[in-house]
Amino acid sequence: MTTTRAVLRQVEPGNSSRCAWCGSPVRFAARTHAQQVIANVYLEGAWDRVEHYHSRCYSDAGSPHGEPVQPGPLARQGPPGRPAADTDPAPETVPED
Ligand SMILES: [Zn+2]
Repeated sequence: MTTTRAVLRQVEPGNSSRCAWCGSPVRFAARTHAQQVIANVYLEGAWDRVEHYHSRCYSDAGSPHGEPVQPGPLARQGPPGRPAADTDPAPETVPED
């Protein structure tokens, strides 16, 4: 595929990208299960850049690269023996700086 697409990912520890929308770092935060949207941007069929967004900023921006693709079940790891993420209310709180 040589078209721009966006995926939703868990923010990993040590991540140091900046949000393409608000300009703030997209930081790992275990408490908030922070998620980011990563977009591989293609211009005229050629890869140009990767953009990172806070998941909420991406919606605020109006999903500029389309609806983010959810990762498969393997990428969504939870503690064993627990049902899916529905039982884990993760409020969308922004960590205080
Ligand atoms: Zn942001």
